[in-house]
Amino acid sequence: MATLSLQHLDKIYDNNVQAVFDFNLDVKDGELIVLVGPSGCGKSTTLRMIAGLEDISAGKLLLDGKDITQTPAKDRDMAMVFQNYALYGHMTIYENMAFSLTLRKENPNVIHKKVLAAAEILGLTEQLNKKPAQLSGGQRQRVAMGRSIVRNPKVFLFDEPLSNLDAKLRGATRREILLLHKRLNATMLYVTHDQTEALTLADRIVCMSMGYVQQVGTPLELYDTPANLFVASFIGLPPMNFFHVTVSEDALVGPEMNVPLSEDEKKTLAAYKGKEIVLGVRPEDIVEGGAVSVKVFSNENLGMNTLVHGHLGNSNAAENKITCKLRGWCDYKAGDQVKVTFVKKHFFDKDTTNAIRGEK
Ligand code: ADP
Repeated sequence: MATLSLQHLDKIYDNNVQAVFDFNLDVKDGELIVLVGPSGCGKSTTLRMIAGLEDISAGKLLLDGKDITQTPAKDRDMAMVFQNYALYGHMTIYENMAFSLTLRKENPNVIHKKVLAAAEILGLTEQLNKKPAQLSGGQRQRVAMGRSIVRNPKVFLFDEPLSNLDAKLRGATRREILLLHKRLNATMLYVTHDQTEALTLADRIVCMSMGYVQQVGTPLELYDTPANLFVASFIGLPPMNFFHVTVSEDALVGPEMNVPLSEDEKKTLAAYKGKEIVLGVRPEDIVEGGAVSVKVFSNENLGMNTLVHGHLGNSNAAENKITCKLRGWCDYKAGDQVKVTFVKKHFFDKDTTNAIRGEK
């Protein structure tokens, strides 16, 4: 059983840089939380405050209801897995995994059982007598996880654990972490700058920018109903398209578009009639056929889909750039005109950048 409660956490470094502002989160027992955001947004700092590797400048941290804000790292009962594995090269895999328990002077029989059990879970049984240099990057990362598992910590903390692996191994190791999470049913916090990792791993995602939490929710919530322009642009690949448009009586009007609004959309935008808003459209929510005209400048075949990059209407203006992820194999040439429809639209207030949800 392990719940974590992060209450109004701030981090101000000695040089007066504030890296984290008023971070609030209640992590449920067994939950896998992914902190995601661009480099420098405060993810690692947050994780390191939880681990006890950085002081908490303000706010409170509770583990199972107990205040551990001032508790030293070694007494927090958490295990951290880093991106650079930090394995001991002169020790075998077995010794690496047993190391923390040996230090604690645990009973050798107990250590043996724990190491074998962790090796079994991670598929490392055959590797126990080898040295780290004889293992692949993915296997080394598993050893790093094994070292955490044997300690049976209350909370697992992962700091970009896959960033040193190549793309193929990243996918495979990601699936292993997911299986591990299911198998151990452990509370985990995982830091990454990669939105794909966040979407595929998380029970809930915390999306951060510039030290602030932008949105907390399930992967589907962040994808389907992003809270603001930042989350909308960060989650989803290729990223969402954005256009400045004006809300008329029954359409969205831009320099190169006039898109009719459904009754529901009119209701959502009731308070914005006559005003300018930001329209967001995901590339995959664009289909061929319809009233919006796109002038193609490149066509990328992905197999099942084609990415068509172009501009709205007849313009070459940067603000009219659009990427469409069309179904099937398309063969458009630069200069072709394609007619498309936006099957789902996202609306944002251009001043606050918050999503416009309308009256409920
Ligand atoms: P992320 O993990 O999202 O890449 P970090 O938490 O590492 O971001 O960093 C957040 C901000 O805090 C950055 O502006 C970074 O430069 C700053 N920072 C990180 N560590 C320190 C430190 N030890 N001293 C001063 N500033 C730091």
